[in-house]
Amino acid sequence: MFYNEEFETLPREALRALQIKRLQQVLQRVYHTVGHYKKSLDAARVKPDDIKSLTDLHKLPFITRQDLQNNYPFGLFAVPMSSVVRLHASSGTSGRSTVFGYTKRDVETWSELMARSLVAAGLTKNDIIHNAFGYGLFTGGLGLHFGAEKIGASVIPMSGGNSKRQIMILQDFGPTAICCTPSYALHLAEQGAALGVDMKALKLRVGIFGAEPWNKAMCDEIEKIYGITALDIFGLSEVMGPGIAMECLEGRNGMHIFEDHFLVETINPQTGEVLPEGAEGELVFTTLTKEAFPLVRYRSGDISRLITEPCRCGRSHIKMERVLKRSDDMLIIRGINVFPAQIEAILTGIEGLEPRYQLIVDKSGALDSLELRVEVSEKTFSESGSVKALQKIEKRIVKDMKDYLGVAARVKLVEPNTLQQSQGTAAKVIDNRRI
Ligand code: ADP
Ligand code: ZN
Repeated sequence: MFYNEEFETLPREALRALQIKRLQQVLQRVYHTVGHYKKSLDAARVKPDDIKSLTDLHKLPFITRQDLQNNYPFGLFAVPMSSVVRLHASSGTSGRSTVFGYTKRDVETWSELMARSLVAAGLTKNDIIHNAFGYGLFTGGLGLHFGAEKIGASVIPMSGGNSKRQIMILQDFGPTAICCTPSYALHLAEQGAALGVDMKALKLRVGIFGAEPWNKAMCDEIEKIYGITALDIFGLSEVMGPGIAMECLEGRNGMHIFEDHFLVETINPQTGEVLPEGAEGELVFTTLTKEAFPLVRYRSGDISRLITEPCRCGRSHIKMERVLKRSDDMLIIRGINVFPAQIEAILTGIEGLEPRYQLIVDKSGALDSLELRVEVSEKTFSESGSVKALQKIEKRIVKDMKDYLGVAARVKLVEPNTLQQSQGTAAKVIDNRRI
């Protein structure tokens, strides 16, 4: 089943011709409307007209998350704000967050790609979709929501959290599909078990999971506990949101990238060299149709491999393997992207702390847990005297982590110089999760 059969099954030659035509249009547009691209293309001595084939794309400079942050909040928008109908943003303090804009047509395109994803999972207007992706600035919830409405399904805008209520609704409303992070699906199953609910007895038939890495073992476990087919969906807000790539029911070996809207390359993350198709590397995306926030050669930081063998489903678009690794230090905690630098920025804003800290990421049941150990300065340590003063700092860190990054952390203040190990500086991040 297809949502847009013509484009999803477009023969590769025609697809390539469409991509190059759209690429040339995007380049003209960004060169003439976004200062950053004019500067970076001029510095690389390339003009939009020089790009005549898809391999010419390699001549263009990359754009990175740092560039996005440097242009915070709206510096990379290619249309006036009057044409922007939606804003989303990543977590982070001012200047360390990234902001994404959408025109009416962008929302329309995104909804279509989400609709394609849902149809690839076998869903129709007769389905009830329980959407437990977070709503709000995060793209997961609303992205999926619009796609579900587009195919005419009945969508339950659950958002995350409140597990008991989620289980009640799963039982009472009888949704046939569930969408959330894979770890939240496991968490719900744990909560269900505690309440004596048999998840297999629910009406669920399929689950669409993403926003964080999950391996085949986790997929098998979810399928077994719920008695459903568990499919992988991939996306990143910079490029659009969820619905950049989706696993089809028939293939079960990777996610189709909607290539009529995105160009994908894999590069060596160390050297930036473009790798042959099929080699493992960092995914680089170019948006072909986005109006408000087009991106040319965006380094995603996600490591994967492209699969070019034709798929049984009939879609002509290439696939990408599960993303299980990153090329940078980004952590995904309960589906939320967190960079150590963002935590540093929060700690720097609080008086009485040393910049030395340690992050310990672990699993508590199915969900991620985060502990943050921070050294207090000598001065605070000797002068504050009271436990109360230290507790106040602890509370402030917990609150800022929640307010700016959206993550709950246990905070422990430690004495000065205790995090520095004799051999050198302590590892900042200790990730004990197994994936
Ligand atoms: P999303 O709504 O997809 O989480 P974000 O912009 O918050 O959007 O996060 C994007 C990042 O999340 C990706 O760059 C990738 O690292 C991770 N991610 C998203 N989907 C998946 C997936 N299916 N498997 C592994 N990682 C994923
Ligand atoms: Zn397929």
